[in-house]
Amino acid sequence: HHSWLQGKSQVFSPEMLHFTSDKLSLMAELRQAIGEGQLALYVQPQIDMQSREVLAGEVYVRWRHPSRGLMTPDSFLALAEETGVIYPLTQWVLKEAVAMIAQLAQSQQVSKIAVNISSKDLLHDELIDTLEMLFDKYKVKPQQLMLELKEQALVAEPARAMSMMQRLHRLGVELALDDFGTGFSSLAYLRKLPIQHVKVDCSFIGDLHRSDMHSAITGAIIDMARNLELGVIAEGVEELEVEQKLLRMGCQRGQGFLYSRPFELSGFAVWLKQWYQQNAK
Ligand code: C2E
Ligand code: MG
Ligand code: MG
Ligand code: MG
Repeated sequence: HHSWLQGKSQVFSPEMLHFTSDKLSLMAELRQAIGEGQLALYVQPQIDMQSREVLAGEVYVRWRHPSRGLMTPDSFLALAEETGVIYPLTQWVLKEAVAMIAQLAQSQQVSKIAVNISSKDLLHDELIDTLEMLFDKYKVKPQQLMLELKEQALVAEPARAMSMMQRLHRLGVELALDDFGTGFSSLAYLRKLPIQHVKVDCSFIGDLHRSDMHSAITGAIIDMARNLELGVIAEGVEELEVEQKLLRMGCQRGQGFLYSRPFELSGFAVWLKQWYQQNAK
């Protein structure tokens, strides 16, 4: 018997082996799932908390797995990024999102959809072509799409990431930096990025009304954004006290369970209609 296979400090175990092959089969399934209609988009409205206007809908991918049920991105995205399945997935998400923008434009209740993209997507050669093709096909303006990137997307290859962001900016899409405050972006770096919004991470917003630390961080982000002439979007607004505090702090855009949990994208037009009935425009 090898001692490293026993005891608490073992580095490898039959369970981990199983886990790994399980993950690999999941990825093979995901590749198929994209073509077989198992992916779904959910949406969450981004609100102007002052005027009650709906500024955009952020879409989140879900996987309706035949045996595992409805899966959220945390259970398959990282692996999709590692194995290259992410770009086909993103292409599917972008197509659905742009098609929905075209459909919603007729209702005139919202004009923008926000899509999350991973660092792998940002560095993908075909991203610009994919977007131009979709805007052309669905007669949608690039300004109607917002792409949300995480700070981490800029870390691995900052020069290439920056040049891709500049190309996207020239194309006309809006760019937001997601989960802001959890990474290490310096102010000096941030002001060079062609972004229009920073999104304050839920981990600071959820208990904003109870945590001095989190309100200090959020306040600093809001001040910084104002100085750089960037918009601020608070994510994870769950309670009225948080909304009120954000408004006092000078942050007007928010999203979270207070307004709506994410729901199926196909229901967005109906949701918008009800929202505006209750929050007269
Ligand atoms: P994110 O873009 O920061 O999205 C916010 C996450 O918080 C979403 O989780 C959303 O469902 C959840 N959320 C919304 N409101 C609240 C709230 O009030 N309280 C709390 N506690 N949570 C809230 P979800 O859908 O599981 O997505 C997780 C992450 O996965 C996203 O974080 C995004 O980075 C990524 N993701 C989602 N969809 C896609 C996609 O289509 N493509 C890529 N590349 N990434 C995606
Ligand atoms: Mg996001
Ligand atoms: Mg976020
Ligand atoms: Mg997040």
